[in-house]
Amino acid sequence: MTQTSRDLLAAARAVVPEVTAEEVHARARSNGRVLLDVRERNEFDEGYIPGALHLSKGFLELQVEDRIPDRATPITVYCAGGVRSLLAAQTLQQMGYGDVESLAGGFGAWKQKGYEFTVPRLLTPEQKIRYSRHLLVPEVGEEGQQKLLNARVLLIGAGGLGAPAALYLAAAGVGTLGLLDFDTVDLSNLQRQVIHTQDRVGMAKTESARIQINALNPDVKVVEHREMLNSENAREIFEQYDIVVNGCDNFPTRYLANDVAIFTKKPLVDGGIFRFEGQVTTVLPHASPCYRCRYPAPPPPEEAPSCAEAGVLGILPGIVGILQATEVVKLIIGHGEPLAGRLLHVDALDMKFREFRVPRDVNCPVCGENPTITEPIDYEGFCMAPNAVPTEGAAAGLVAAH
Ligand SMILES: [Zn+2]
Repeated sequence: MTQTSRDLLAAARAVVPEVTAEEVHARARSNGRVLLDVRERNEFDEGYIPGALHLSKGFLELQVEDRIPDRATPITVYCAGGVRSLLAAQTLQQMGYGDVESLAGGFGAWKQKGYEFTVPRLLTPEQKIRYSRHLLVPEVGEEGQQKLLNARVLLIGAGGLGAPAALYLAAAGVGTLGLLDFDTVDLSNLQRQVIHTQDRVGMAKTESARIQINALNPDVKVVEHREMLNSENAREIFEQYDIVVNGCDNFPTRYLANDVAIFTKKPLVDGGIFRFEGQVTTVLPHASPCYRCRYPAPPPPEEAPSCAEAGVLGILPGIVGILQATEVVKLIIGHGEPLAGRLLHVDALDMKFREFRVPRDVNCPVCGENPTITEPIDYEGFCMAPNAVPTEGAAAGLVAAH
């Protein structure tokens, strides 16, 4: 027998209970009931009832079991005017969902009552094109891209590691990049520091990097910190960011960055390079081992590394810096396993990647149970020159980077 749309609606209304906007509004938010918005995506994007789950009516049968696996979950379905939601609710009943109701008058009735609604922050049409390959990845998607755009990442050093990390983080749409470097671009940097160019030799590295980043992606706000990290400024600078990337090359900076990351509870992605070898690890304060868990104190000054410049294959910082950037993106979108408690060692000559487990030390002087270091320290007696690199033997674990 042919049924008209009116027949179908009447049949749905006979079995689906309806609730008013007042009733839904009066309920406690945390009553366990799912508010299911079955409108089209573009309707949802213009505003929805706070806390609602969106699933267009066209995808209902195919996706609802993934989104609401427990068929005992109480569900209030709504659409724009209360018609599509009746039909959707009936479908849910037929699929075995036991407690389903429809919001009479839909979102229109809700808005008419003056109840609050949420308007999601949206990507612009241009951003949808720019980040389209991210939007196609389920682990990133529009939600992850928004997280990237809202993220603030500090890069210590706009050199060998900072250059590739900054370029890829900028391309990925990380909204704010802080660049900390007091140095200027030198011709000898260009063999590996790919963010700088020959016509910017002599320019502050932070400025040169900012020009390149903004040429690549104007979504990114670059904050220049033309200074050296020290015990006076470290805490205040770290506080302005969500994640810190260490691409710096000397013991004082490595220990200082580690300690201040613990004090300010900022994840730290550390990298190091030497000739054909590199290392990467991620410190999640108080959740994973820190640098001092492995090396509680720097070596004594008489064993301190020499200030001689060390050689490095120009491509190697690219590999390591991009591994660091990958760690940062994973932390921002909240997917994957960070290199926490793990040290990844790269040997470019043999092209081997090896992983070392690093345990947490309960007696660690900074992140242990009874910390003895509670303030930032400026270590003296070490080479502080920007190009200084510890010698191979003295480089405790994470070798030097620049
Ligand atoms: Zn520690």
